[in-house]
Amino acid sequence: MTGTLADRVIFITGARSGIGRATADAARRAGAHVVGADIDGLETMADLDLALALDVSDPDAMTAAVEQILKTFGRIDGLVTCAGLSLTGSATDMALDDWHKALAVNLTGTMLAARAVLPAMVAAGNGAIVTLASIYGMTGSPGNTPYNVTKGGVLQLTRSLAADYGAAGIRVNTISPGFIETPMTTMLQGESPMRSAFINMHLLKRAGRAEEVAKTAIFLLSDDASFITGANIPVDGGFSAAQVILV
Ligand code: NAP
Repeated sequence: MTGTLADRVIFITGARSGIGRATADAARRAGAHVVGADIDGLETMADLDLALALDVSDPDAMTAAVEQILKTFGRIDGLVTCAGLSLTGSATDMALDDWHKALAVNLTGTMLAARAVLPAMVAAGNGAIVTLASIYGMTGSPGNTPYNVTKGGVLQLTRSLAADYGAAGIRVNTISPGFIETPMTTMLQGESPMRSAFINMHLLKRAGRAEEVAKTAIFLLSDDASFITGANIPVDGGFSAAQVILV
């Protein structure tokens, strides 16, 4: 196969939907063998090289999934952690279950995926991990405590992984998307004052596409990013670059 990821084995969580699905498609176009995992929807990943039903917050299931990938392909070259949930609320009005669930899926799930693939990557002496944080990992947003906190945690997890495994040849970077049109953001579909205000906070004055995030993930997985690790790349139409005054 040709392409920037020719013959690499890339494991993508949250691969049935949105950014994960777009990343799976882009990785295949780049020549990779793509393993997709998601909590549900195996049939929507049937075109991938391997599709797995996986709850990323389940440590035993994560271990079994990575064992299956290694048994099938013999190695794992890249990981992209797209599985995630958007759970809302402030400290006093959020459901405690939502807090625990956001931590379990968004933060612990990302850590478990990295922890499961790292031994094989370290043994091979190379590998690339791309995590998905958010603009809300860098700034706060009202009524969004579980999500904000877990995405801030993903940023620090990414830096910690980069610090611990750089000497072994493993690169670990994060992407912080702005408003991307995916099933996660259906509440912002259709014209509404909230959608207009949110879009206006992005300097490019539009929402992003999952494919635009996927292209950045492919770059970070590839040798084109060979001296980049511990980085946070905003793919946010300029959201994090300026504070737009809404009038
Ligand atoms: P999406 O379309 O909802 O895709 C996320 C996928 O992860 C869904 O298929 C979801 O399944 C799955 N998932 C949820 N819990 C899981 C679990 N325990 N184990 C395995 N899979 C699980 O969302 P997206 O917009 O592509 O988001 C991808 C990543 O980018 C997320 O981490 C998100 O926080 C981040 N992000 C997105 C945006 C945006 O504007 N879209 C902005 C910033 C960051 P269900 O549908 O059943 O929940």
